[in-house]
Amino acid sequence: MSTVSAYAATSATDPLTPATITRRELGPHDVALDIHFAGICHSDIHTVRGEWGQVEYPMVPGHEIAGVVTGVGSEVTLFQVGDRAGVGCFVDSCRECENCLAGEEQYCDNPGMIGTYNGVGRDGQPTQGGYSGAIVVDENYVLRIPDGIGLDAAAPLLCAGITTYSPLRHWHAGPGTKVAVIGLGGLGHLGVKLAAAMGAEVTVLSQSLKKMEDGLRLGATDYRATSDRTTFKDLAGKFDLILNTVSANLDLEQYLKLLTLDGTLVELGMPEHPMSVPAGALIFGRRRIAGSLIGGIAETQEMLEFCAEHGVAPEIEVIEPDYINEAYARVLASDVRYRFVIDTASLR
Ligand code: NAP
Ligand code: ZN
Ligand code: ZN
Repeated sequence: MSTVSAYAATSATDPLTPATITRRELGPHDVALDIHFAGICHSDIHTVRGEWGQVEYPMVPGHEIAGVVTGVGSEVTLFQVGDRAGVGCFVDSCRECENCLAGEEQYCDNPGMIGTYNGVGRDGQPTQGGYSGAIVVDENYVLRIPDGIGLDAAAPLLCAGITTYSPLRHWHAGPGTKVAVIGLGGLGHLGVKLAAAMGAEVTVLSQSLKKMEDGLRLGATDYRATSDRTTFKDLAGKFDLILNTVSANLDLEQYLKLLTLDGTLVELGMPEHPMSVPAGALIFGRRRIAGSLIGGIAETQEMLEFCAEHGVAPEIEVIEPDYINEAYARVLASDVRYRFVIDTASLR
């Protein structure tokens, strides 16, 4: 075992504070990574605050991890010391169920993927995430970061990137399709970039027009304020696909009415409380509402290659670990442009 510096949550309400955690000895299939950067995902905040259920404190969040391999176990074949590598939202799964075998490990049903933090590893120990100096992960759950992508920019791709890439692919976004992205935050801004890179026509639906210039620069061709009631009149029946990246409850009925016949609204945001959906909003227009959870390891690797090839990278604000609590407050206030990424040098 080795000890590593980290930032941990100790309760649902207290600020995150410096902590020391342990990482397991390298097993035969393990890769040790020095963490260089860790993104702050809104899911970290939902989890820390207990909005998604029980948390084992102290808990180190962070599932957008990019760094460099410092050690490999005796049986490792996929990585070498010095490789640039990343870890996303899960660090293991059963590897035997139908979904794992299909490369959809995020939907493992036996009993489920093992989260990068707030989970329990195969060794029975709690998993601790990326707001830390180093991590040890089985090689099959580690991603290779293409040369063209900086480690700081790579980090947010490992959750925000794959979470928007996967549904865009699944619902065939591309030339001739009209996509709307609700919420221009961490997920949303990558959703806009990726959908545009795939050739779709993209509209941003944001609370206000404050970030309009950014949205258009990121690749949207239209940008509307949802505080303006005419938005919902103007855009009725227009979109084949809507990605909802909002972390709070919305009136889904009015957004569903923006879909074409057979259009799909995909829930990516996971607010604490349920949202109601009137049946009529689905029935008229044979519309669908769906959900999507991150992506499997193979698809995450595919997304990284796609981003390298198409020059897609997140817009980030790099911060020191002692700024994490302020960053949380700013994310909660929708004051993020567009992902906070922690430089973890001082934790190594
Ligand atoms: P984020 O950076 O905070 O972005 C969320 C955006 O939603 C904000 O920037 C804001 O955009 C909009 N928004 C926030 N509060 C709102 C409100 N009350 N009403 C209307 N719009 C509001 O968060 P994120 O990291 O992108 O994560 C977004 C959500 O996705 C979270 O719930 C997170 O847990 C979830 N998530 C899900 C998955 C998955 O696998 N499905 C993966 C990662 C994250 P505007 O200012 O433009 O309106
Ligand atoms: Zn995330
Ligand atoms: Zn499985």
